[in-house]
Amino acid sequence: MQLTNRSKVVSNKVQTAMEQLYLPGILKGMLITGSHLFKRRATVKYPEETRPVAAVYRGWHVLKRDENGAERCTACGLCAVACPAEAITMESAERKKGEEGLYREEKYAKVYEINMLRCIFCGLCEEACPKEAIFLTDRLVDTEYEREDFVYGKSKLTEKVDKRIDVSKRQTLEVAEFKKLPGLKHNEMWDSKKIDKGHKH
Ligand code: SF4
Ligand code: SF4
Repeated sequence: MQLTNRSKVVSNKVQTAMEQLYLPGILKGMLITGSHLFKRRATVKYPEETRPVAAVYRGWHVLKRDENGAERCTACGLCAVACPAEAITMESAERKKGEEGLYREEKYAKVYEINMLRCIFCGLCEEACPKEAIFLTDRLVDTEYEREDFVYGKSKLTEKVDKRIDVSKRQTLEVAEFKKLPGLKHNEMWDSKKIDKGHKH
């Protein structure tokens, strides 16, 4: 029984002498290749040349500092919980006396790592962060030869005090207001103290 009319009848005809030389096939192939010489190139010579990307392109993450230069991240772990690729790991530590200029909260991330090979650049870590500490940027992740070099630690993620990274395009007032909505899961967790806010107990 024929279900559709999409089936093709395969012919088993005998090749002509010309076809047996494969000349028409070779000529046809060369014509297609030759025609591409005059078309616009679809590739760019990366890394010397890069394609333009959107201002809100989701690339290499940055761990932000506050206006005084202190690290904003309080190692609450919400970004790691939100990450569908389980790409984020961290280790927290308690801020010592005299380190107020280094870390904004009493608890900070001693170790913070993102495995760029696992990351799918979805931006959920950025959305989950209640401290405006992590943002994705328009920077492309470096090319590497070893897998372990794709695990970015704080040295590659934290922005330099004297070389700030502008994330204002991602941190608009609308986004900031949206994040304060009481219905959002991370706000509920934060408000009901289900997570450590970085204070001593
Ligand atoms: S961008 Fe997505 S996949 Fe990558 S670390 Fe953030 S939450 Fe995980
Ligand atoms: S959600 Fe924000 S504050 Fe919490 S660990 Fe992640 S980056 Fe740090």
